[in-house]
Amino acid sequence: MVHEPPGIVTSSLPEKKQTGLLSTDRMEEACGGFGIWAPNGDLFQLTNFALFALQHRGQESAGMALSSGETIYLKRGMGLVSEVFSDTSGLEKISGIASIGHVRYPTSGGVHLQNAQPLLFSYRGGSLAVAHNGNLVNAPALRTKLEGEGSIFQTTTDSELIAHLVARYGDSDLLSSLEKVLPWLRGAYVFLILTEKSLVAVRDPHGVRPLSLGKWKGNYCFASETCAFDTIGAETVRDIEPGEMAVLTESGLQVKRFMESRRRALCVFEFIYFARPDSNIEGMNVHLVRKELGRRLAREHPIEADFVTGVPDSSLAAASGFAEELGIPYEMGLVKNRYIGRTFIQPDQKIRDIGVQLKLNPVHKVISGKKVVVVDDSIVRGTTSKKLVKMIYQAGAREVHLRIASPPVISPCYYGIDTPTYEELIGYKKAAPEICREVGAVSLGHLSRRGMLGAVGISPDNLCLACFSGQYPI
Ligand code: SF4
Repeated sequence: MVHEPPGIVTSSLPEKKQTGLLSTDRMEEACGGFGIWAPNGDLFQLTNFALFALQHRGQESAGMALSSGETIYLKRGMGLVSEVFSDTSGLEKISGIASIGHVRYPTSGGVHLQNAQPLLFSYRGGSLAVAHNGNLVNAPALRTKLEGEGSIFQTTTDSELIAHLVARYGDSDLLSSLEKVLPWLRGAYVFLILTEKSLVAVRDPHGVRPLSLGKWKGNYCFASETCAFDTIGAETVRDIEPGEMAVLTESGLQVKRFMESRRRALCVFEFIYFARPDSNIEGMNVHLVRKELGRRLAREHPIEADFVTGVPDSSLAAASGFAEELGIPYEMGLVKNRYIGRTFIQPDQKIRDIGVQLKLNPVHKVISGKKVVVVDDSIVRGTTSKKLVKMIYQAGAREVHLRIASPPVISPCYYGIDTPTYEELIGYKKAAPEICREVGAVSLGHLSRRGMLGAVGISPDNLCLACFSGQYPI
């Protein structure tokens, strides 16, 4: 049985139109998911807090599905976790056995409430609430096939496919249904699936997007990033391996391999920009990897300067590594306004132009008269770098040198990350000297691919590097 309890609204903010201008000058995060089996816990608060910790992975919508053991309750809405779950008359009153939550950044489908996740379906085996992180590269073909066979889709997101495949080709047992249909999917996916009596977590055989297993007071939980476990006081057990399916029921945890993983392809950009610095992926702390990226960048592109500063927040670790390696002071040259959400990214060029000033402010007294090294994690379109360099000169800098803690981004991502087209990627169109001239810096240095791999410490055969190499593993 599926329904929404009295008092639960499914939208707390008006829907936004899909604009195509959701893209800032960044690679935008995939999505984030959390799931927990805890009949003895406050499921609403645990999931709510975990989603807060994962908010950086998606700010367009948030949602939660909670199973009482007989019924699945759902609440979704547009906006931040704090906005969607701001009222206190709904899910928090329901005691249940398990829940899943999701924060979404739309990489497929538009910005509509109907695409907010978890998605909820009924089929002959019962109810399914589905939360998805990633992008299915064969989604159009599968959708065409299913629609040809009579399926009616409720959303424009590829995340809905799994429910249709289970309903059409599966049987009443969810696990055997998943084992049958999951091998049909191509691309990057982490699914969290909640039924009335089970919670299933699935990671694609390439393991593009991260997924970890945690333990909270004897109960198991799953999260896109381990920072969610820290927030709720859970411990990290291990990563869910590519091609694994982990199932939680009243009998406990069961882990199965639904497909062999022939070629792993963990997204290297998780270490560079997406993941929170306090998260660990494959046992490595993201902050420490970023610091090492900065150290290697300093060795590859050394420079004498008065101080080094990083672009908050994702570049601060690399900037401190850069400064330490060269023995140059590290200073706070830029301050971020933490209260500017994505809400302020408007489909209007003028407003977009002042977006950088809204988000970042240079510390004039620190910068004035100085030779400054600015470390950033990546350059995508180049528009932000240009504005940043200009802003630092306007604050009185004598010289601005740009150092980038990753190689040039030369190809779009098809695995769940919002990237511009080839033509919009400055690294695809231009070589470093030209980019340097365009952004207005005195010098520019990118970390080499070798330097990046050395800092990450994972074999390139087990990583996705496609946006840096143009070679797609799937
Ligand atoms: S192309 Fe690969 S490495 Fe680049 S963002 Fe996408 S998944 Fe990550």
